[in-house]
Amino acid sequence: MSEKMRVLLYYKYVSIEDPESFKEEHLKFCKELGLLGRIIVAPEGINGTVSGTYEQTEMYMDHLKKDPRFADIVFKIDEVEEHTFKKMFVRHKKELVTWRFDEDVNPNQLSGRRLSPKEFYEALQDEDVIVIDGRNDYEYEIGHFRGAIKPDVKASRDFPKWVRENLSEFKDKKVLTYCTGGIRCEKFSGFLMQEGFKDVSQLEGGIVTYGKDPEVQGRLWDGKCYVFDERIAVPINRTEEDTVVSKCYYCGKLEDRYVNCANPECNKQHVCCTECEIKHKRSCSKECLDHPRNRYETESKEQHSI
Ligand SMILES: [Zn+2]
Ligand SMILES: [Zn+2]
Repeated sequence: MSEKMRVLLYYKYVSIEDPESFKEEHLKFCKELGLLGRIIVAPEGINGTVSGTYEQTEMYMDHLKKDPRFADIVFKIDEVEEHTFKKMFVRHKKELVTWRFDEDVNPNQLSGRRLSPKEFYEALQDEDVIVIDGRNDYEYEIGHFRGAIKPDVKASRDFPKWVRENLSEFKDKKVLTYCTGGIRCEKFSGFLMQEGFKDVSQLEGGIVTYGKDPEVQGRLWDGKCYVFDERIAVPINRTEEDTVVSKCYYCGKLEDRYVNCANPECNKQHVCCTECEIKHKRSCSKECLDHPRNRYETESKEQHSI
């Protein structure tokens, strides 16, 4: 039997004086511990997701919490069978999430009301509420809260334009936002308030926390939750049989497994059933199928089954 592994998901908006040297030291520490994952360090804080053994992840959490800046950081912990990353990256960026707002938002000063999973669940059932998914379209596609508005965006930086063009009529409504682990709503909810939305609330701890709440048990979530590691998607709603809300790119049948196009120069992530993967050699177009570097035949057929 393999020893259980864990995945940690966490962030903290707090000033980091010298992010470049923090990054170097942090990377060294993570490598010494044997963790794998992806961490972003910015002058405004830290955002990470790492996998490791029970011991490694415990040591990592202790280490971070000993630093007064991160003493109250919240870790979301998932048990997994194996590492969910292949490498260890720590990157220094300007922003933890690339929003590029005209006017930056400090979530420690301006942020929507924070709702617990139970409060969010109750608010969702309010008839007059507008629910905005704070993630990208491909994340929404395989799972979202029932009735949520799908943002027509491929990346966070596309949100300001999309909000201005599509949501202005809702400024006087009660607005709920949510994202995977809560970090995107920290600034997104503040941005909405800056734009004149009067009543903005966010799901504290995000979808993954909502799915773990013993009382709510993921109710009103349809499909799965997209995650940025090798699992690709995780279940959230524990009160219903697996619901599937997305369709196969080729045949249109209900399906929730994502694959990457076998043309390495395309690599497009698309929802694809197992039959169509074989039939179309996991290629998203005729051009990709005929591409000289198409890797479908050569690589071992490792599948991202979810
Ligand atoms: Zn299909
Ligand atoms: Zn392709």
